[in-house]
Amino acid sequence: MIAESMVALVKGSSVIRAMFEEGNRLSKIYGRENVYDFSLGNPNVSAPKEVNEAILDVINNEESTLVHGYMSNAGFEDVREAIADSINKKYDTSFNASNIIMTVGAAGGLNTILKTLLNPGDEVICFAPFFSEYKNYVSNFGGKLVVVPANTKDFMPNFDEFIRLINNKTKAVIINNPNNPTGVIYGEDVIQRLSDILNSKAKELSTDIYIISDEPYRELAYDGATVPYITKYYNNTIVGYSYSKSLSLPGERIGYLVIPDELTDSSEVKAAASVATRILGFVNAPSLMQRVIKKTLDVDLSKNIAIYDKNRKALYEGLTKLGFECVKPQGAFYLFVKSPVEDENEFCNSAKKYNILMVPATSFGCKGYVRIAYCVSYDTIINSLPSFEKLAKEYSL
Ligand code: PLP
Repeated sequence: MIAESMVALVKGSSVIRAMFEEGNRLSKIYGRENVYDFSLGNPNVSAPKEVNEAILDVINNEESTLVHGYMSNAGFEDVREAIADSINKKYDTSFNASNIIMTVGAAGGLNTILKTLLNPGDEVICFAPFFSEYKNYVSNFGGKLVVVPANTKDFMPNFDEFIRLINNKTKAVIINNPNNPTGVIYGEDVIQRLSDILNSKAKELSTDIYIISDEPYRELAYDGATVPYITKYYNNTIVGYSYSKSLSLPGERIGYLVIPDELTDSSEVKAAASVATRILGFVNAPSLMQRVIKKTLDVDLSKNIAIYDKNRKALYEGLTKLGFECVKPQGAFYLFVKSPVEDENEFCNSAKKYNILMVPATSFGCKGYVRIAYCVSYDTIINSLPSFEKLAKEYSL
């Protein structure tokens, strides 16, 4: 018999599973090219050629016992040093290898840091809409995810509600910048305000409140937008990064955490995070990928970003012209569209009639919206527009 706690989780997972199966079912009937599956954040763009070259280079030229062996739980020292140098160069920071812990993607990094920080009953705040797995990751360690309701005007944080929800059980705040599912980017003013609020609340409550900044989409920013490097604004920040999206490597499970020296109890947090990655069963991040990352830190991502940008424009312009409402995404590869009816599940079901698959946003904590992932081929987007037009007509847009 499975654990009681898993029964509800298995049930909850079935929405995404049902979507996946629906995609397969429709593809068998209509052909894959006639099904517009916008449900998954799985990059359609190939990994840069430098990644494959680096894999071969590592396998052919580095010592096998090093490449495939165990290492310190935090990861290879030289890889961590190279990552720290690369962050310093890009963002004018001053990290070294000791500040970096290699992780099994962003998901592994988030679980590692939550295991490191949370006592049972601790609260972690996030802003709706949010990546739905946060709830599971926080509850893995007996914590409670507290959700600040969405500000649907522009999807920037609702700071009044945020202030109200901070209390002496608040251990951390998870932000996701650029955001999945809205595509918004929190700029310098938002990050500064967030930092000011937390500094003042932490002082008032005589406690430490950490920001965990989940940044797998950091480089996917358009129209010249940039994502502030948040450790420069708030000392108690941990950054979680992943190569899943920027290098199109979600299956390879590789990323890192940045734990700055300025963090309260930094040495203890670094040591505990290294132990956490081990005892969660990751042991260490995949070794071959760590070696590959060292060789691909300076890869030019502009070609891949341009592909997503082209998709973004085509989809945003196409859908808004048809009368759908959404904020123009500045980053990541999602469009967050207002459902023309209150129940977005009904809207998603209607869309399926036209072979369009989208994700209802109740699971992101924002009822009445749907998420469209545009990390698909450009042809899929262009070919889907006549179907979106039929959908718009059905709702008299
Ligand atoms: N955080 C956010 C906001 C995501 O969108 C995702 C994946 O889609 C993850 C974390 C997990 O990323 P990874 O595959 O690197 O574990």
